[in-house]
Amino acid sequence: HAPAHFRALLEMSRFHGDKVFLVYEDEHLTFEDHFRRAATLATRLVEEYGVTKGDRVAVAMRNYPEWVVSFSAALVAGAVAVPLNAWWTETELAYGVRDSGAKVLIADGERAARLAATGVPMIVTRGAAPAGARAFDEVMGEVTADAKLPDVELAPHDPATIFYTSGTTGSPKGALGSHRNLGQSPMTIAYGLMRATVLAGQDAGAAAGVRRVSLLTVPLFHVTGCFSAMTSTMFGGGCLVLMYKWDPEQALRLIERERVTAMVGVPTNAWQLMSHPDFGKYDLSSLTTLGYGGAPAPPKLLERIATNLPNRAPSNGYGMTETSALAIGNGGADYLARPESIGVPSPVVDVRVVDPAGADLPSGEVGELCVRGPNVILGYWNKPEATARTFVDGWLHTGDLAKIDEEGFVYIVDRAKDMVIRGGENVYCAEVEAALFEHPAVDDVAVIGVPHEELGEEVGAVIRLAPGASVTAEELRTFLSGRIAKFKIPVHVWFRDAELPRNPGGKILKTHLRREILGNP
Ligand code: ATP
Ligand code: MG
Repeated sequence: HAPAHFRALLEMSRFHGDKVFLVYEDEHLTFEDHFRRAATLATRLVEEYGVTKGDRVAVAMRNYPEWVVSFSAALVAGAVAVPLNAWWTETELAYGVRDSGAKVLIADGERAARLAATGVPMIVTRGAAPAGARAFDEVMGEVTADAKLPDVELAPHDPATIFYTSGTTGSPKGALGSHRNLGQSPMTIAYGLMRATVLAGQDAGAAAGVRRVSLLTVPLFHVTGCFSAMTSTMFGGGCLVLMYKWDPEQALRLIERERVTAMVGVPTNAWQLMSHPDFGKYDLSSLTTLGYGGAPAPPKLLERIATNLPNRAPSNGYGMTETSALAIGNGGADYLARPESIGVPSPVVDVRVVDPAGADLPSGEVGELCVRGPNVILGYWNKPEATARTFVDGWLHTGDLAKIDEEGFVYIVDRAKDMVIRGGENVYCAEVEAALFEHPAVDDVAVIGVPHEELGEEVGAVIRLAPGASVTAEELRTFLSGRIAKFKIPVHVWFRDAELPRNPGGKILKTHLRREILGNP
């Protein structure tokens, strides 16, 4: 029978043999090691846990090599892999387990303690196994060279993954993705990286001859980590350097030590790396590519890269859990010329911008961005209404407001839910944030709507100043007055010392911020 996408991907990856696939601290896993372990664990899942096609197997851990092994094993066992958010509390994890109906949990010690109450059979690595759970190594037993993949009949349209959305606008939804969704991702990533490389004036041939070593600065349990970084590395024969958690100094150390060529994460990672006081002390000469996405990237970031990491290929990718990571990307000279744009769609992706009635809008006009292609997921798990609302006639309605210029470059204007409506005028928070970011004293900013009796909402800004910088609200307003229309200028300005609350996807948790500052939901 025809191999399904992931099985084909894993079988192909074995040909990279003794090359190192995963690095975690001092541990190294080659492609062959990974294949054998994934095949062994998959066999145990089938034989000892009774996993059959379509069962859900949840993975709840930090970015350990076992995360990747467990994910691969679940898929080749025919199961649907359910990566759970490692930042979740006991209640949230219980929700993920219940919602997905997971048959087996594979967790690290820390998550295992939080998952014990669910009563679902559990396999535990890196820490104590609670009563009733088994240790990962014991389940694996002996890993031999003749480990075989279970014989499971799979097709490209079969469900492969349930990733939970990051919960920026409401509770996280389970995004049900297929083997096809996952399988197209390495091509989209390769295309985006090649484009960024060539457009940055780098020698594409030389770049292709260097084995890519990627530093993953975000969790594997979101699609950026799993697809844009992990599966594309698996398929491309590169090396993926994992971190327990994001830490700019550790990242600097790892880039030097592992001769990292590409950093993959969210815009904040690149920003914080360059802001670190010891930034200049490390040898970052191996680094050629800075790829980030998943959250708005301030144009100032690009200037920072040009100054601090000249001649690197920066790229900004737009994607959602529902688009299986990268869908639209901007890189190199294109990106420098249009820093506000998220670029052009992947060659397998169609895009349109529509009005609230669903009619196409002419170029330059702002409406909801819709995406169609082999990367668009099957729907939301157990949420038929949300699925019907979001996936219409094959088009995914992103909930993002965007425009497309004459040349086909896409611009995200704001999230539909983020927009402030001030006396009937739309104020796009993202635009005001970008303008504020241009002020040298501003290190981080979030613009929020503040309830107002007459206008409905007023514009407010929460600002974290750069270390040692000072500026008054009035000075900021003066600064903005030449840049954006008067009605968009924040009437309320709050300064804070603490970092703005962000989710692992790098997005500011505005609901938290609003509650903290305004005391209302
Ligand atoms: P939820 O759907 O649960 O509210 P979420 O939308 O934040 O959470 P994700 O699927 O992780 O969960 O994020 C997708 C969203 O991230 C997009 O809809 C868009 O708003 C934003 N986004 C992604 N990439 C970019 C980018 N390059 N520039 C601007 N915004 C981006
Ligand atoms: Mg979303």
